[in-house]
This record gives sequence, structure tokens and C-alpha cells, in this order.
Amino acid sequence: MSTDHPIPTAVDIAVVGGGMVGGTLAVALCHVLTAQGYTVALIDADPASAEGTQAHSDPRTTAMSFASRQILSALSCWPGDSSPIHQVHVSHRGYLGKVRLSAEELGVPAVGYVIDNGQYLQHLQQRIHHYAEQHDQAASTHSFTHPSTDPFTDASADPSTDKARLFHCQQCTVTGIEQQDDHAQLSVQQLSVTSQMTAKLVVAADGARSSLREWCHLTSRETDYEQVGIIANVTLDTPHQHIAYERFAANGPVALLPLGTHQASMVLTADNHHASHLLALSDDAFLAQLQQLFGRRLGRFIELGPRSSWPLYLVDSRVNCVGRVLFMGNAARTLHPVAGQGFNLAVRDMGSLIATLRHRSPTSHETHGSQETQASHDPGDASVLNAYADNRKKDQQHTIALTDALARIFRGANPAFSHLRSAGLLSLDRLPGARQTFGRAAMGVSAGLPDLPYPH
Ligand SMILES: Cc1cc2nc3c(=O)[nH]c(=O)nc-3n(C[C@H](O)[C@H](O)[C@H](O)COP(=O)(O)OP(=O)(O)OC[C@H]3O[C@@H](n4cnc5c(N)ncnc54)[C@H](O)[C@@H]3O)c2cc1C
Repeated sequence: MSTDHPIPTAVDIAVVGGGMVGGTLAVALCHVLTAQGYTVALIDADPASAEGTQAHSDPRTTAMSFASRQILSALSCWPGDSSPIHQVHVSHRGYLGKVRLSAEELGVPAVGYVIDNGQYLQHLQQRIHHYAEQHDQAASTHSFTHPSTDPFTDASADPSTDKARLFHCQQCTVTGIEQQDDHAQLSVQQLSVTSQMTAKLVVAADGARSSLREWCHLTSRETDYEQVGIIANVTLDTPHQHIAYERFAANGPVALLPLGTHQASMVLTADNHHASHLLALSDDAFLAQLQQLFGRRLGRFIELGPRSSWPLYLVDSRVNCVGRVLFMGNAARTLHPVAGQGFNLAVRDMGSLIATLRHRSPTSHETHGSQETQASHDPGDASVLNAYADNRKKDQQHTIALTDALARIFRGANPAFSHLRSAGLLSLDRLPGARQTFGRAAMGVSAGLPDLPYPH
């Protein structure tokens, strides 16, 4: 969509930030909440993402949990291409402890899936374009009930009731916000022109360095881990057999996730100083160090793709909402990638928000005209946001605590700690109850799945 589209003056829901989280949410709102007829604006400063790279050329991969696949399928966002993870193998270099989990023992087709972030963002762009185009067509015929079909899914809503309207405000930056009782007002800058947009609900998905967090005076716990995540794709001489490896070592954890048949996506965590050394190595020297760290579990490493590095820190906003602004994704919680939980947690948050809006809308309660209907139809009403926050609190707290603990425990070469970690992995592997709990956490199903229209 071109950048010269007018900025709408009023919408029901404004999503600020079109990264993996904001983009997914915009599509989900249009797909699942068609009958509610909300108008949605997706405002993105793209192409530069808050983490400093071109959003659509994000070179990372994401390990999606089993739960994320279920939820994203219901939200019509699941991408076609993914590599299933049939087994997870966690070990500690130089020690006996290890944990193995298989999809078979957990009774699921895959423990998780690996997707390419660049491809996922592209897939989202197509979906967003589809809904924004639908809106353009409808606007040109002065009708929002223009017949349309959704080429991406069989589970689309009846086209004759397809009332979701998406304004895609690309290369637009939100530069300020003011809140009133019944709406929030955003200043949206496009080139040198600033326009005003009101919204009943604002979802801040503007990344780890969220400006909205600052403007809304949302205090958060922030910790710099003084580590970076180095990522690259590694070509293998033998098939990976869909096993995902996480190996803890003195310098930090390294994960190798299955891609295609003979590739692994590497995420290696290292302290800042050691990371500078690793990034300066030639490809051959780097591969040799990686091979030494990993042994021959995955055969011989024969080629290394481009390396890039990501500073790691924790951002934990203890509340979900300030007035009519709800924080999501990195803007709300930026996690260490050690357990691959950041996006997965955001997916569960998005699923829960959509389920809350869906069940509080007048169409689902058939209470048109009553006072309760007026309030529940307002997507930014305190009762809606409180219900969402209550529902999500426990899972959010557990996930942050688990990730932060793993990032700290599996760090450093102190032999006493190393023995403890090893003992922990051993007992986790041998105690069936502990293995089940670990398995459910890895699959993202500990908190249950939100009530959504899952495809059969
Ligand atoms: C190395 C690494 C590996 C990871 N691996 C995994 C994994 O395996 N599994 C997992 O679940 N998670 C993983 N994560 C976490 C995951 O990458 C994040 O959860 C996810 O990228 C967060 O996306 P986001 O949309 O919230 O933020 P961003 O991607 O930062 O998007 C923010 C968007 O907001 C826009 N924006 C910013 N300010 C404004 C403004 N004022 N106005 C308009 N737009 C604005 C930007 O242009 C950008 O498009 C990993 C993270 C790292 C660092």
C-alpha cells in the first residue's frame, strides 16, 4: 500500500508498531472480529524496527511452541513454511545431566516449529495488504459489506458480514499521546505532516524501546544481561532429524534449531567481551569452535551463514495497561532468548485479548441496546482490559521468572553451580512428573489455550 493514504481521524483500535506482534494482532483483529465491525489502524514507522534492523529482513528464526501454532492458526496468521521439532535435547557441556523430550511421549505431532522471521513478516504483509485493500475497495463503493473472500483460509467469516476495516498507516510515526476518559488521542507523523487520530483502545507494540511506555509513565524493571545473542544458519553434513538442541556451556547457552533438512539455526549467547571475540573470528574458525562445543551430535558443520548479534536485556512492565493503552510484545516484556519465549508469550497474550473482545461483544451476548452493551462494545473499556490483565497475569509472571532464572543460572563457570545445574537436568529427565511439567511448558500449554475458533 502506498504511503499517501489519508490518516483516519477516529478508529476503534489503533495498533502502534507493525513488527511480528503488531502485524499479527492487526490481522487477527480483522480476521476473528469481523462480526464486531471494529475499525482498526495499524501504524508503523517501518522500515526500521525498534531493534535497529529492517523489519522485513529480520534474519532470525523463531521457535514457536505447539500452543502458538494452534493460536496463530485460529487467528489466521500461521505461515505455510515451518520446520517441525520432533525432539528437544537439553545438555550441559562436560557434565552428565541431560533432558530429552519427544513429541511422541507428549502425544502431539510436534513439540514446536521453527519459522523464518523474514518469511513470517512477509506473510503478515500479504495478510495486512489483503484487509487494507478490502477496505479500500469497500470505501470506493461506500459500502463495507462488499463481498470478499479470504484466499488464505477456509475458515474465514461469512463475507456478507465482513465488516472489519483496516487502515494501514505505513511509514507513520506516533509522536505523542493524550488520554481522555473515553478515548486516547495519538499524534501521527507522516513525512512532515502531523495528524490527530482518536482510538478507544491503543495497543502499544512499538518494541523494546517503546516511546509509548515512556509517555504513559509505565515503570518497568529493566536489566541489562551484558550479553549478546549471536545468530547464524549452519549447514550440516547429515540430516538433523528434527531434533532441537540446547547446550549449556561455561560461556553461555547455544541452541541449534532444525531448518529444512540439513540446516540448523544457531542462537549462541555470550558475554559482551567474548561475543566481540567470536564475531571477529573467520567463518572457519567460528565453525571449528562451535563444533568443539557441540561435538558430533549433529554431524559435521560444513558452512556458516552471515552472523548478526542482538543485545540482550530484560524489560518487565509489571502492569499490562495504562488507561486505554495496552502494552504487548517487546514493548511490555522483552525476554532473554534462552528459552525461546518472547514471541510465544506475546502470541498467548494476543489470543487472550482477541478471546476477551470476542466474548464481551454484543454479538456474542445478544444484549443489544442495554447499557452493558454500550460499555462492553467499547474495546478500551476498563472491564475489558481488567479481564484481559487478570487472565494473563499468572502466565506472564511465570514465563518471565523462568526465563530470567535460566538466563542467570546457566551463566558462568563456577564448578559448584555447574554440578547443581547438572543435577537439576538429571532429575528433570528422570522424574516423570517433572518431565511432563517441563514438556507442557515447552509446548506453551501450561496456562491452557484461549477460547478461539480453532480450525478442525
Ligand atoms: C536473538 C533472539 C532470538 C529470539 N528467538 C525467539 C524464539 O525462538 N522464540 C520466541 O518466542 N521469541 C524469540 N525472540 C523474541 C522475539 O524476537 C520478540 O518477542 C519479537 O521480535 C518482538 O516483536 P515486537 O513486534 O514486539 O517488536 P519489534 O520487532 O521491535 O517491532 C516494533 C515495531 O514498532 C515500530 N515502531 C516503533 N516505534 C514506533 C512509533 N513511535 N510509531 C510507529 N511505529 C513504531 C517499529 O518500526 C517496529 O516495526 C528472540 C529474540 C532475540 C533477540
